[in-house]
Amino acid sequence: MTRARVLLLTAALGPLDYRVPQGSDAPLGSVVVAPLGPRRMGGVVWEDESFGAPEPVGDNRLRNLYEIVPVPPVPAPLRRLVEWTSDYYLAPPGAVLRMVLPGAAFADARRPIVEYRATGELPARMTPQRIVALEKIGARQGLVRELAALADVSEAVIRGLVQAGALEAVSVSADAPYPEPDPDFGPPDLSAEQAAAASQLRDAVTAAIFETLLLDGVTGSGKTEVYMEAIAAAVEAGKQALVLLPEIALTEPMLTRFAARFGCEPVAWHSGLRSTERRRAWHAIARGEAKIVVGARSALFLPYADLGLIVVDEAHETSFKQEDGVHYHARDVAVMRGHFEALPVILASATPALESLAQVEAGRYRHIILPARYGGAMLPDLAAIDMRQDPPDRGRWLAPPLVDALADRLHKGEQSLLFLNRRGFAPLTLCRTCGHRIQCPNCTAWMVEHRLVHRLACHHCGHVMPPPRLCPECEDEDSLVACGPGVERVADEVTLRFPEARTAIVTSDTLWSPAKAAEFVANVEGGLIDIIIGTQLVTKGYHFPNLTLVGVVDADLGLDGGDLRASERTFQQIAQVAGRAGRGVKPGEVLIQTRVPDAPVMAALVANDREGFYAAEAASRRQAGAPPYGRFAALVISSEDIDVARGVAQRLGQKAPVADGLAIYGPAPAPLAMLRGRHRFRLLLHAPRSFDLQGTIRDWVARIDWPAKARLAIDVDPYSFV
Ligand code: ADP
Ligand code: ZN
Repeated sequence: MTRARVLLLTAALGPLDYRVPQGSDAPLGSVVVAPLGPRRMGGVVWEDESFGAPEPVGDNRLRNLYEIVPVPPVPAPLRRLVEWTSDYYLAPPGAVLRMVLPGAAFADARRPIVEYRATGELPARMTPQRIVALEKIGARQGLVRELAALADVSEAVIRGLVQAGALEAVSVSADAPYPEPDPDFGPPDLSAEQAAAASQLRDAVTAAIFETLLLDGVTGSGKTEVYMEAIAAAVEAGKQALVLLPEIALTEPMLTRFAARFGCEPVAWHSGLRSTERRRAWHAIARGEAKIVVGARSALFLPYADLGLIVVDEAHETSFKQEDGVHYHARDVAVMRGHFEALPVILASATPALESLAQVEAGRYRHIILPARYGGAMLPDLAAIDMRQDPPDRGRWLAPPLVDALADRLHKGEQSLLFLNRRGFAPLTLCRTCGHRIQCPNCTAWMVEHRLVHRLACHHCGHVMPPPRLCPECEDEDSLVACGPGVERVADEVTLRFPEARTAIVTSDTLWSPAKAAEFVANVEGGLIDIIIGTQLVTKGYHFPNLTLVGVVDADLGLDGGDLRASERTFQQIAQVAGRAGRGVKPGEVLIQTRVPDAPVMAALVANDREGFYAAEAASRRQAGAPPYGRFAALVISSEDIDVARGVAQRLGQKAPVADGLAIYGPAPAPLAMLRGRHRFRLLLHAPRSFDLQGTIRDWVARIDWPAKARLAIDVDPYSFV
């Protein structure tokens, strides 16, 4: 009889033993469907000796596997990566495995799927709901469920539209092959510096051994052009290449750029894909047919058949850190994947993370530098506006020097960008009479006013409400006032000051689809926009040659909050957004509004002294034993019942391990004391780099009994301290 140990796709269980039905074969890595109680569950055949080698179950108690799924087995190096990730981030292996095998893996790629799209015909009976639904659907196509979500209506409305002939069925094949990228389609004419960097990267791909290369070049130096040469080398060798981007919104422009270089768009992978697209992409990736994959961090765990290169673009971005489920950092796991699969990993950035520079210093990463912008474009001039000396008018947010600079660009027909990392109109609504502030009922957070859609919204849990007319506390009429600016409010000010200016607000609220993003780019490139007002969404990736002014509306925003990386992040973010200015022949100017122009980070930005900033920042981190010179981990205990959460946190606190070098802070209410209706308590561990934090935490949390109503989230190497 053949037995198989199977790691199931559930966070709740370790591996279980099954019987392989007679006549089938289930070698290591096979993707299977197994019985679990009354349910069917996917899983992967795993080594017996993994996960502490649990005792095998007696033959007589084994149940038969239901099915061996006809997809390629999960290769051994990827199984090792799943184990490593589970171990390092203290996450259940089944939860990590789910990222390798999303639902798409189990859908038969040969079976066509029925999607729906607009026919252009209007139904005889037009309701307002139908009008809006058809407008939102536009030219898009999808399952009934997807179109309903897209149009914000029930599935019944969509089915009604199908019946009325306004939508029609289309059969989509999920195994249609993707076009093959051509490495010789549109190679660039590289500058000497770029060519030198590109040849190092190409050689690393050809050598096919593990190495991490930090591609460090100022904004506009051609990092993308250069790493595309490494991708070309991978494609020439018949291998696959993966490019991870920090933001879904960046995929669309990247796809176009890749198409110009390789003759066809690469395969995209992110949460915004339709289920047919996911199914097609997953199978093509697993069969090795998707040669170039561009995706969000979730693309990292997919079972590439023959991966030859991973590129992490904008590698310093903290959005590579996943903050729910498995708390992993995609940049760090990418490097581990390179290690297990013997392939080079390129980290590209204009402002590398201190963590990455420390690895360069330790001799573990190769440093490849592109010192200048391509084509002789100059880096922009940065200057600070001291908001204490040059304050904006009352109730306004733009200081006179920034207003003058905007007027100057309008006059010259050049474009400007105002950066404020805050969505909506105002971050806080306050009652002038009683001082009441409108808070989310589920979170320790203020409700943010979104005036364009006439809503107050919580940015943590998504709770929305119409803006009240009366103060909910003192019931005074018309006493509520908006406090502080968001991008919508800055846009209002721009319109007031420059009624003739054509503006665009760019946030995840306005650029919520690839089509919207493409439309925005076309409008800016076509000269239809004078002033862009945007959040961090506009700080990366875009190349607008006629954009010559960047105004940072509130440079101090990221500095409060006590985050250990606050200065580093502020530096990176401002350097990044500054990098949007003066990318063409006209020089760029960057004005930074701040109340602390003497803060080291502002001074370094203005002096263009990156090395000085990093050196000072590294020295202070070293002294504090903060990353990359020390380590943190956070335990967050949460429950809907505050007493349960507090009780567990206190018991954990009482049983806290004592060890040389280990400091434990808390338990204390987390800064975000309530989130999505759950009360949160936090314990923070701080230790030297060499300390076995994971082992310590594992033993510790096993020492107490967990009530069903309490949940524990473990965050190793946290980036968010709320
Ligand atoms: P980075 O990624 O470093 O910000 P990019 O790769 O986006 O830089 O390059 C900036 C701009 O310069 C892009 O529009 C790019 O197409 C162009 N560019 C860079 N290098 C070359 C080159 N060798 N030939 C033609 N255009 C180039
Ligand atoms: Zn909330």
